[in-house]
Amino acid sequence: MAATILYIEDNPQNMRLARKMLHTAGYQVIEAVDGMSGLHTVMNESVDLVLVDINLPDIDGLQVTAQIKSMPELASLPVLALTANAMHGDRERCLAAGCDGYIPKPVTKNELLTMVAHFLGESERRVV
Ligand code: MN
Repeated sequence: MAATILYIEDNPQNMRLARKMLHTAGYQVIEAVDGMSGLHTVMNESVDLVLVDINLPDIDGLQVTAQIKSMPELASLPVLALTANAMHGDRERCLAAGCDGYIPKPVTKNELLTMVAHFLGESERRVV
């Protein structure tokens, strides 16, 4: 069965791009446009992996991650952060907040799919 990925992103263009990449690789994608709706989704739906933008209109992606990781039933859910601010210490802040991985924007298809497959525990990369 296809893995389900929740992508929390407020930029429609970024969402569209990643959705296309993920769909091409056979993943199901659930979308959320802000941090609180993302948290609501992750608590109420079956999600295998979370991609979270750092800069969101309400709570930021670091807070979303910290919330997820604070819930025992969700603590092992992989959370990968995406941000454009790679030069400003976001990587360290992401990892400190509990992110399992970090993908700098602009996201490339190869990097996104490699990271997702790795954190889903898929032994081989999908052929797309
Ligand atoms: Mn954003």
